[in-house]
Amino acid sequence: MKQTPKSELLKQLDIITDKARSLIGKGKVADYIPALAKVVPDQFALALCDLDGNVYTSGDANKAFSIQSISKLFSLVQAVNIYGEDLWQGLGREPSGQRFNSLVQLESENGVPRNPFINAGALLVCDRLESRCSAPNFQLLELLKSLSENTKLRVDHEVARSEMEHGSRNAAMAYLMKAFGNFHNPVEKVLESYAHHCAIEMSCIDLAKAALFLANQGQTLNGREILSALETKRVNALLSTCGLYDEAGEFAFKVGLPGKSGVGGGIVAIYPGHYSICVWSPELNVAGNSLAGFYALELLADTLGLSVYL
Ligand code: GLU
Repeated sequence: MKQTPKSELLKQLDIITDKARSLIGKGKVADYIPALAKVVPDQFALALCDLDGNVYTSGDANKAFSIQSISKLFSLVQAVNIYGEDLWQGLGREPSGQRFNSLVQLESENGVPRNPFINAGALLVCDRLESRCSAPNFQLLELLKSLSENTKLRVDHEVARSEMEHGSRNAAMAYLMKAFGNFHNPVEKVLESYAHHCAIEMSCIDLAKAALFLANQGQTLNGREILSALETKRVNALLSTCGLYDEAGEFAFKVGLPGKSGVGGGIVAIYPGHYSICVWSPELNVAGNSLAGFYALELLADTLGLSVYL
């Protein structure tokens, strides 16, 4: 990695923001629920945290957006904490090569989701959390508040309600897993919890701060262990192979960092040992990833020489 002085880094982030903004207008905001379809499309933000506690930003980095599938990263962290190795009974660790909400593979693979970052896998994680947490919704939000040092984080209840009203495929996945004996709690209850996780609102600064422990062998900057170093390595590996829907290969090829995206237009990326990064721009490409956000990460990785494959 090239060593970049702070003022130079900020300048680079602004240049990257300008270039990435040129893609705005070429993607499409998620429209599967009305509450997301009405998000103003021409927004862009970027935040980068380093292990000295510095936060570098560009664009609307304080603007909160719907974290959507980025929540799958943090619910996985909670479940790894509670279950350890046992979590992987009935849950795979392979890329799916299918749409994030596909039912086909789940049927042919006996109700065992390929990985925790497709919907079926995240629903299974929520099911496991439901078995062991007294208030799974509340506990995820509290974890995110403490990691981001932002006590004001909230769930957008309109988005959560809308998710539940349009959650037939998710319900189908949960019932299919239940039919295979791989889902233990009432489906409606788990769907509600999952919808609330997706509907949490955070800014790029919040998310970059919340994910920083993944760049720091599982520890927060004040020494709190969120995951062990081994668990952190494994979560980062899953982010690398499965974190960007059906575009994880392209993301590895062009960016080369562990990452997790959401249809709200956010992408979190980790440069282990150095940085956590969050970009956001609501317009998505055909794979469901932020168009300008993906491009910004590619530019950032190239400019600063960031990649886990170098
Ligand atoms: N709430 C979305 C769903 O379950 C998550 C979409 C996403 O960000 O992948 O369909």
